[in-house]
Amino acid sequence: MRRLVADDATRLARCVVDDDDDAVLEDVSPRGPMNAFEATNLYFRRAAAIMQLSPHIVTLFETPQREVKVGLSIEMDNGEVHTFQGYRVQHDNSRGPYKGGLRFHPHVDPDEVKALASLMTWKTAVIDVPYGGAKGGITVDPRTLSMAELERLTRRFVDKIHDIIGPQQDIPAPDVNTGSQHMAWIYDQYSKLHGHSPGVVTGKPVELYGSLGREAATGRGVAIATREVLKAQGKSVVGATVAVQGFGNVGTFSARILQQMGAKITAIADVSGAVRNNEGIDVDAAIAFARSTGGVRGFPGAEALKDANAILFEPVDVLVPAALGGVITRDNARDIRAKLIVEGANGPTTPEADAILDGRSIVQVPDIYANAGGVTVSYFEWVQNLQQFTWTEEEVNDKLERKMIRGFETIWKVSLEKKVSLRTAAFIVAIGRVGKARVLRGIS
Ligand code: GLU
Repeated sequence: MRRLVADDATRLARCVVDDDDDAVLEDVSPRGPMNAFEATNLYFRRAAAIMQLSPHIVTLFETPQREVKVGLSIEMDNGEVHTFQGYRVQHDNSRGPYKGGLRFHPHVDPDEVKALASLMTWKTAVIDVPYGGAKGGITVDPRTLSMAELERLTRRFVDKIHDIIGPQQDIPAPDVNTGSQHMAWIYDQYSKLHGHSPGVVTGKPVELYGSLGREAATGRGVAIATREVLKAQGKSVVGATVAVQGFGNVGTFSARILQQMGAKITAIADVSGAVRNNEGIDVDAAIAFARSTGGVRGFPGAEALKDANAILFEPVDVLVPAALGGVITRDNARDIRAKLIVEGANGPTTPEADAILDGRSIVQVPDIYANAGGVTVSYFEWVQNLQQFTWTEEEVNDKLERKMIRGFETIWKVSLEKKVSLRTAAFIVAIGRVGKARVLRGIS
């Protein structure tokens, strides 16, 4: 008999536990897909139900500690004044200062930022770095702004939120469409207001208090996660076929490092389109091509797929969604042919799709573990900044490798013990750690 363990009529779905204590999603309402925050909370609740968390504690962890929305007015190059919307959500700081990236994208909205902030809380806990979770964003298409305008926008954002960030308070980092140059501006603007503070932001240029290995870290972590899961399944990364969706920071480094490990990258995609070569794509050549032409479309030595989205249905061993959230949905999950999905992006799989994939025994390696390499090396960068000391790239990569392996062993073990998916196992580990810290500190 099924037992109802979490229910929220307005949140479209309910979670039940069956006789074997497997939590399953039931009764998805016909009102349509849930938003990113509802989706994240559903994953959280599924684990919370298994852990028998009280409804009050569930509410505590579903409620971000602070949500800030700021208007950002800047002068454009042509003299006009434009106003953008900026957000910073600080979800939880039970385990340490808030931590999480800053994204520039036209789809940034309050629900997405809240979802991403909550994911950071669970991610920093799974990989065990001493942080809480936060996320920021500006609703803007950065391709429509000049470098000078982007700099003014980034500095204005710091002007508006500088009193709630800081090396011991909240530490931003790169995310979608932001990189080391943006972080350099944040460091500089914050330091003008508070004095020299390299530890206020991570993902800075190596020449300006950044860490060796940070740029590649998320992709390196994705590659290590892939290798470890395949190994645990009795398979090998050597010769495994891989399709990578998204060819930005995470996608390019995931593809490159997986190729170095011996995998065969047979398909890649970005917004311009998708290409396939069953003999294996030369990733470095594809990166050079995409840099010079603006995308992978037309890459010689590979055939074009119907459209960018078609990459999701490639018959590969491993699919790495490394672009945006919400790409694997109830409408396309049945057509996925990969045996393993490793989430390079944050929130690429909706809960409905997650349930379908689980039902089809397609193993999913959840974002809160799979892409945690970025925040792990952010932590190493912050430690180096605080100690005013620098580590070699080898040292950074070694430490990252150990963290990723440890994280994998922990969630794999819980998944076997509790007979739950890797996603639910990762949430159980994370909720346990955050909950413990919160109890030890006292409710505040
Ligand atoms: N934006 C990255 C993430 O989602 C990195 C966050 C960080 O380094 O703080 O994990």
